[in-house]
Amino acid sequence: MNAKHPSVSRREFLATTSAALLAGSAAATKSTAADSAGAPKLAINGGEKAVKVAVKRARRWGDLERERLNAMLEQDSLFYWKGPQTTLALERYKKIYPLKYAHTCTSGTAALHIAVIAAGIGPGDEVITSPITDIGTVIGVIYQQGVPVFADLGACTFTLDPADVERRITPKTKAIIAVHLCGNPCYLNALKAIADKHNLILIEDCCQAWGAKYRGKPIGTVGHIACWSLQDTKHITTGDGGVVASNDERFGPILQKCGDKGADRLKGGGFQMFATNYRMNEPTAAVLAAQLERLEGFASKRAMLGNLLTEKIAGIPGIRPHQVHPEDRCVYWFYFMRFKTEAFRCNRAEFVKALAAEGVSCSAGYISVPLHREPVFQKHAFFAGHWPVREMGLTTMDFTKHQTPEVEAILQNGIRFTIHEGMTEEYILGAAEAVRKVAKHYAV
Ligand SMILES: *Cc1c(COP(=O)(O)O)cnc(C)c1O
Repeated sequence: MNAKHPSVSRREFLATTSAALLAGSAAATKSTAADSAGAPKLAINGGEKAVKVAVKRARRWGDLERERLNAMLEQDSLFYWKGPQTTLALERYKKIYPLKYAHTCTSGTAALHIAVIAAGIGPGDEVITSPITDIGTVIGVIYQQGVPVFADLGACTFTLDPADVERRITPKTKAIIAVHLCGNPCYLNALKAIADKHNLILIEDCCQAWGAKYRGKPIGTVGHIACWSLQDTKHITTGDGGVVASNDERFGPILQKCGDKGADRLKGGGFQMFATNYRMNEPTAAVLAAQLERLEGFASKRAMLGNLLTEKIAGIPGIRPHQVHPEDRCVYWFYFMRFKTEAFRCNRAEFVKALAAEGVSCSAGYISVPLHREPVFQKHAFFAGHWPVREMGLTTMDFTKHQTPEVEAILQNGIRFTIHEGMTEEYILGAAEAVRKVAKHYAV
């Protein structure tokens, strides 16, 4: 049996069980909340809500952070180099992520920019990545005068499709940035094999994947360079911040100067290379050191909640749950599922509205269009209305013609569920019941 495609018998089994469950709940509420067909009345039509518990965001910081910040106040310098908070934060980070070289920086965008500087991405070099991501994934590529090349994604994994990545390789390709979207690990073995075969650098964008694991290994440890964000919406945060790390002797030793104006603080020697200032200060590192202590708790809770949702909505006709490899840990920065338009009498917006009325925290889609369909890409206008590498003939990239069909479909029929560590199993069970109820109501 293929793990990605549950056998028909399992699907049938789930369908039968769910029908029985639904019949049970319908019977229990028949006199008060059932419609003429005997199905439970939707909350949007005045029925009882499927979600019966309130959801509260857990406290994200407290005594652990206070203790570190108090220690920081006793220092006479708040500069990062050899700073006690930065040192402690990186020590704790390396316990979770066994990478020899790790550096703090100001954002995920900064971490990714440092990574492409270290990787030697230069004018006209192509970097293959995902078009469903934060624009920070490619800002550094564009600043180094590289060319982002957007590949298509797996239909329900929402991560790079290795076959499509390989199709887009040209003699100019220098790197792949694998985005672990939603905290779901990419097909790293396949991507690493492609990178090795074509002599490419594999950069992992782990910004949405704090605590995720690929085949039991912490995310960020398979590729050549890994990048994390500590922006306020991520699993752990310092408000803004980032980490960049590597085990590779070609890149690891230069990460520090690639984020610190090109200055090598260990060896000195003036400015041997060009880079900007992405240094994280000690107050921020103090918060990071404390947040790292909270990471495993947050990550395991989110993984459990997301997996439970998948288990409970499996087999609903027209709904395709978030697909995660059974040996991986997805940390669900959010939960994404696909809505098969042709299976329902309503459109996605109406479906989401009905779910929200049931008490589910959800929304339609994620970013509105693939990155390359944003105006700044369509106009090729990155630098004061110009894109020098194109004007100089170093690339023929035309973002108005770039196509990623599965990505378009994902953004048109994806439904996004909020998952966070303050949620309970009871909430997830209610949310799953809501999906079942709304799907049944609108089924064709
Ligand atoms: C948040 C995010 C970034 C950018 O991180 P910032 O800290 O906001 O600069 C990059 N890539 C992905 C996938 C992200 O989610």
